[in-house]
Amino acid sequence: MASSIRTLNPATGKIEKEFQPHTSQQIDQYIQQAENTFKIWRKETFENRKKLLKSVAQKMRQQKEHLANLITTEMGKPLRESRIEVDYSANIFDYYADNAEEFLKPETLNTEKGEAVVISEPLGVILGVMPWNFPFSQIARFAAPNIMAGNTILLKTASNIPQCGEAFEELFNTSNAIAGIYKNLLISGKETSALVEDARIHGVSLTGSEAAGASIAKIAGENIKKSVLELGGTDPMIVLEDANLDKVMAGTINGRLRNAGQACTSSKRIIVQENIYDQYLSSLTDYVKNMKVGNPMEEDTDMGPVSSESALNTLLEQVNQSVENGAKLILGGHQIGTEGSFMAPTILTDLKPGMKAYDEEVFGPVVCIMKVKTIEEAIQIANDTKYGLGASIYTENIELAQKLALNIDCGMVSINKQVSSSPELPFGGTKRSGYGRELSKAGILEFLNKKLILVA
Ligand code: NDP
Repeated sequence: MASSIRTLNPATGKIEKEFQPHTSQQIDQYIQQAENTFKIWRKETFENRKKLLKSVAQKMRQQKEHLANLITTEMGKPLRESRIEVDYSANIFDYYADNAEEFLKPETLNTEKGEAVVISEPLGVILGVMPWNFPFSQIARFAAPNIMAGNTILLKTASNIPQCGEAFEELFNTSNAIAGIYKNLLISGKETSALVEDARIHGVSLTGSEAAGASIAKIAGENIKKSVLELGGTDPMIVLEDANLDKVMAGTINGRLRNAGQACTSSKRIIVQENIYDQYLSSLTDYVKNMKVGNPMEEDTDMGPVSSESALNTLLEQVNQSVENGAKLILGGHQIGTEGSFMAPTILTDLKPGMKAYDEEVFGPVVCIMKVKTIEEAIQIANDTKYGLGASIYTENIELAQKLALNIDCGMVSINKQVSSSPELPFGGTKRSGYGRELSKAGILEFLNKKLILVA
């Protein structure tokens, strides 16, 4: 039987490499090894942990071309974007290598009960379940803080990017990491859920769909284990009538069309005040008409394929259903060619509740625009979603934007720029976008035991 863990190049539709899933005996050995290594690694000095992370970061940079090629081959983003992702992943490793000791230093508390100190202890083996849309940086932001904190890692990445997963482990192997600090697992999503029941695993962090998150979190809850969930989003982008159009265009291009729209914090609902609407739509239409969609290995390609044929079909279904229900299709809405899973960049307007492009997360290059009269209407639509990951607001009135930011139910608000991630800034959401935070100091505090020691 063909393995579902395989590289199927979405630009060509061809299977390039297949992997045998790990057997249950192998998985058991890897968990045991991670647990054994934890006993050593938790006592390791910050200096030595730092050396390992610095070495991994350096190797990432040295192998940038090779790693970027793997990313592009497996999930289709333009090579230029893949290189940026590899650099960014190395930066995350450097950031935690340089700052973890400070983040985790013992905290003395004021109390009349005596001398109180809270120390940060690692929890043990932590399972990471990661998606395909940012194959390297999603792993980096989970693995780097946890390994610096003294935890050991089992990593299950999406079944369509096995070579990226294996390459990540190899960075540790060639950095002389003790076996068991980091292990890439080749298993299905279903089998992964069952691992959370294993008493040797002490926490789980998942980035991906709501369904996968709910499944993992349910088992984690039943087994009294900490989980962090970074799930989908339908981030609003609010454009007020005094906005600077150049910033709005940059925000749309980088925040909606980059990575073929396949980002959790992509601006999936663009809400525009009527006075600037026509000008914006006209600039955007000109830009989208001239985008170069095609071979992601070519340097001047703006957009590659979406990640898979099934992702393409879902997108077409969401667009068609919305148009059938009254949305206006300005551009796109169809597949390009017959080879690979290329979706024409699409602009949809006049969206309303009941349309899939309004109600659901559209994980692809579909710019969904709504016209509003008032700011109140914009905020009402912004919050009319079960998700709460990020939001962006475009206006030259910064004071107003800062006030509006308080009225949006989400985890991150960006003013005059798209929501994006950076090693030193906390990342995460609320509502059905999940809970917990990645990156920054907050990201290293998730899987720790904050132990109180009191001398009376
Ligand atoms: P999934 O949530 O299915 O996959 C994400 C990761 O979870 C993969 O490693 C996957 O493994 C694993 N997984 C899937 N089901 C389970 C399960 N029951 N228990 C444990 N692990 C599981 O995402 P898809 O790739 O199918 O994308 C579907 C939708 O998810 C997108 O359209 C988008 O809405 C959302 N998504 C959000 C992302 C984000 O950044 N927040 C990233 C990717 C997707 P396997 O590949 O083996 O199934």
